[in-house]
Amino acid sequence: MVLDGRSVAQKVLGEVKAGVERLRAETGASPMLAVVLVGDFAPSKIYVANKKKATDSVGIATRDYVYPEGLTQHELVALLGSLNADRAVHGILLQLPLVPGCDEDAAIAAIAPEKDVDGLHPTNLGRLLAGAPTVVPCTPAGCLEILDHYGAKLEGMEAVVVGRSRLVGKPLAQLLLARHATVTMCHTRTRDLAEHTRRADVLCVAAGRARMITGDMVKEGAWVIDVGINRLETGRLVGDVDFDSASKRAQAITPVPGGVGPMTIAMLLRNTLLAARRQLLGGGLRPPSDTSPQGLRGQSPRSNT
Ligand code: NDP
Repeated sequence: MVLDGRSVAQKVLGEVKAGVERLRAETGASPMLAVVLVGDFAPSKIYVANKKKATDSVGIATRDYVYPEGLTQHELVALLGSLNADRAVHGILLQLPLVPGCDEDAAIAAIAPEKDVDGLHPTNLGRLLAGAPTVVPCTPAGCLEILDHYGAKLEGMEAVVVGRSRLVGKPLAQLLLARHATVTMCHTRTRDLAEHTRRADVLCVAAGRARMITGDMVKEGAWVIDVGINRLETGRLVGDVDFDSASKRAQAITPVPGGVGPMTIAMLLRNTLLAARRQLLGGGLRPPSDTSPQGLRGQSPRSNT
């Protein structure tokens, strides 16, 4: 079975759109996302343009803050401070990577946790680690949403995550743990990668190495989530998993493109809507094990902190 991220993302975007309309009816306000882009990095510009299209499609307003490479750390932190204080702004998207000379960790930490729609602020990541209600990072949240949509029963599964970045691997492992999977994390120092991946009932790969996971590294009947996006010299986009060989053994697998990629933007918009709801109407964050769209429908969150 091919796990169609585009159609799951469409479903989420439909829920977000309905949630935005409901919020507008309840408060007269629309969610507002501030997009901060520093420098001239082409992939970031494309990504930001795609996000803009998606925000427009669900009725989330955006404000763009685009700066040339020369922006100093001090100026960036001052900008983020003013966006934190601006009550009309509900979410802040700081497009990464930043330009040389800007400190990514310090910039992320300068965003108010309640406006951190990427879920990367140390406070939000710390809550995730603690199993406490939080803002879940978009790409890992998208992976879980796909698995849930197609009915993967994660409890008790052997889950293997290849990659340990702050953006994807680490939070994804925490989400799988929160669902009671038995989680192994692999990275460049892992001794025998295939030995681990072959045990995985659910194999999530976020390494940034084109087609590094081949069919012989996949357990028969596994669920395979391929986060990687790699452009070959031919211009073709491929994942970290060799789709042709892996799909012969997996029971379910995400394609690239059309798998996790569309989910990341959909989850960003969901996080923006939820942030706007909390700021305009109050209410708490959701525990990492809870990925239901309840907050979008306006019901009370199950948990408050
Ligand atoms: P990073 O480069 O930050 O992290 C890569 C991780 O993979 C590291 O932990 C690294 O290990 C590990 N790794 C690299 N090579 C190997 C290897 N040969 N064997 C085992 N582990 C390895 O990447 P990101 O997490 O930011 O992104 C990963 C991929 O996901 C990229 O292709 C990126 O483009 C894609 N991506 C896709 C998104 C989407 O929306 N679909 C969103 C975000 C990212 P170590 O720590 O030891 O160096």
